[in-house]
Amino acid sequence: MSKRFLGAALLGIAALVAYPLVFTNPYYVHLAETILIYAILLFGLDIVVGYTGQVSLGHAGLFGIGSYVAGVLILKLDAAWYLTLPASVLVTALFGAVLALPALRVTGPYLAMVTLAFGTIAQILINEMSFLTEGPMGITVTKPAVFGTTLSEVQYYYAVAGLMLVSLLLVHRLLRSHIGRAFEALRDSPIASDCMGVSVYRYKVYAFVISAGFAGLAGSLYTYSEGYISPNTYNFELTILFLLAVIMGGRKTRSGALLGALIVVMLPSLLSDIDVFRRIAVTAAVLAVIGAGIALARKRTSVRMMAVPVVATLALAAFSFKLDNMVDWRLTIFGLMTLFVVYYLQDGIVGFLRGLLGRGRTHAHALAGAADADPFAGMRAEAPSGELLRVDGVLMQFGGLKALNGVDLQVVRGSVHGLIGPNGSGKSTMMNVLTGIYKPTAGQVSFQGAAITGRTPAQIALGGIARTFQNVQLFGEMTALENVLVGLHHSFRSTWLDAMLHTPRYLREEAAARRRAQAILAFVGLDELADEEARNLPYGKQRLLEIGRALALDPRLLLLDEPAAGLTAPDIRELMAIIRKIREHGIAIVLIEHHMDVVMAISDTVTVLDFGQKIAEGTPARVQSDPKVIEAYLGGAGASPASAAA
Ligand code: ADP
Ligand code: MG
Repeated sequence: MSKRFLGAALLGIAALVAYPLVFTNPYYVHLAETILIYAILLFGLDIVVGYTGQVSLGHAGLFGIGSYVAGVLILKLDAAWYLTLPASVLVTALFGAVLALPALRVTGPYLAMVTLAFGTIAQILINEMSFLTEGPMGITVTKPAVFGTTLSEVQYYYAVAGLMLVSLLLVHRLLRSHIGRAFEALRDSPIASDCMGVSVYRYKVYAFVISAGFAGLAGSLYTYSEGYISPNTYNFELTILFLLAVIMGGRKTRSGALLGALIVVMLPSLLSDIDVFRRIAVTAAVLAVIGAGIALARKRTSVRMMAVPVVATLALAAFSFKLDNMVDWRLTIFGLMTLFVVYYLQDGIVGFLRGLLGRGRTHAHALAGAADADPFAGMRAEAPSGELLRVDGVLMQFGGLKALNGVDLQVVRGSVHGLIGPNGSGKSTMMNVLTGIYKPTAGQVSFQGAAITGRTPAQIALGGIARTFQNVQLFGEMTALENVLVGLHHSFRSTWLDAMLHTPRYLREEAAARRRAQAILAFVGLDELADEEARNLPYGKQRLLEIGRALALDPRLLLLDEPAAGLTAPDIRELMAIIRKIREHGIAIVLIEHHMDVVMAISDTVTVLDFGQKIAEGTPARVQSDPKVIEAYLGGAGASPASAAA
């Protein structure tokens, strides 16, 4: 923890404590309470929206469920706060699992629609189930009682502030742990997450459940805060407001959620008491000022920057002049602001400010002097003989195309097995079959003697098959170190509770994983770039990072799909040295490669595919002189044994 961070935290806490002493008016205390409650919900929403990259328009519904669990328990059972709060969290988390179901099947606009439907249904049910919820009449509650005395507005404010700080700490710790990394990974590349043993399916559900738990907590606090709840609070406008807050404040930051909450609570009250023209003027001015600020900061011509929001607002003004009574003003303005933020401020206000200050998102930093640990520490040595992988008569059909047509393949333990063939001959398809991404139409794959056809990619990965991708699939927004740490996800036994509470087990596992990740980075020659975001690395380094991440899985078999594509000559030499060292540790490698000299120099056996069929197999020398191979693939331009000496 840095001194600056500690200072900021103390300042924040002091401000929270001082606020009701300065603003004694109950209206302002209540306003601050609402901001803090929204912030709790937004911490959770950010897990889904910012980290896993899913859309949720169902969070107003979840918020409503949380509110009503508390409301109904108080109404029917006169339950105390220490019952209503946990009950809200648990019940809402359960509904979060329900909301996660569509997210497992659809993404993007479809997911937005389905979650919107969820939110609407939740609101309708609350409204209709009047035997439980009193329907549109609403429920009136008093502030919670502690030791027999009912809390005052200010006391309740302090309770909410305390819970907000606790939520902040717990969410922050969770998101910095292996679980947070899993959330982030599945956003950047779901397919690579699965192939690193991090089940996309499971972590999407986790994200929604945890997110819903915080929505539930916020909901129940809101019930006490308002003193009266009714179904129409939890409407579409609120859900848009939540989303706007996360996007505008800045996703993947807690300060963004706090700022977002502040904005969306203050904005409606600013906009509600003034007449139409002043609203337009205020909005236009605000947008223009933001536009100008950004334009200045980016040192670009500002005309377009300012013109868009101003023109849009004027058009809106002209339009609404006719529709004044029909349009919900706030919704229109929120919509416009969302558009504006998405267009100009992709990382939200906090992200933008960080950019201005020249500081990126704070990442887990590499430790000094950890790089001399053993990169292969997690692996047991194994005798390099016997069969590791067996493919029997695999057929992979895409419509009428047989991408693989009755292919057999055996990979010996600890060997390098070259897989070559012209473009479109089925090499990458074979990798996808081996890693469970494609389920073969017919045939069987067995690994270490057990059939693996039909297992999920995550299961296969955890069973000991790691891979890289022909089109690099890194977790772009994560650092090189974090990418490797996702590969080490399997080394954690800690649960989400361990991560939130920083139990000794979690701290030990995290420290061990860090050391190991740095050792792996050093092994692939990237220790200097540990804190660099993967998307900013040069292409060749990205390919090496993919190999490092795959090694973190402690594989018995490593599948490399064209690792040398796009690499410079020195990079290729480095790559070959790395592949040799990996084999020395008893890890078998299947190598797809177009650089013939590379394949021929380091393979023990080479298999040649053509149009989905195996046309030759054997030692490099034999394959190279096979007439069928020369005709189908090498075409006379093939590598001679001399050029294979690279
Ligand atoms: P390569 O040997 O170049 O890696 P691939 O395995 O990528 O070849 O592709 C083999 C054939 O299978 C190609 O004709 C390709 O178009 C086809 N193919 C691969 N994946 C799919 C898919 N998901 N759907 C349809 N066709 C596919
Ligand atoms: Mg390919």
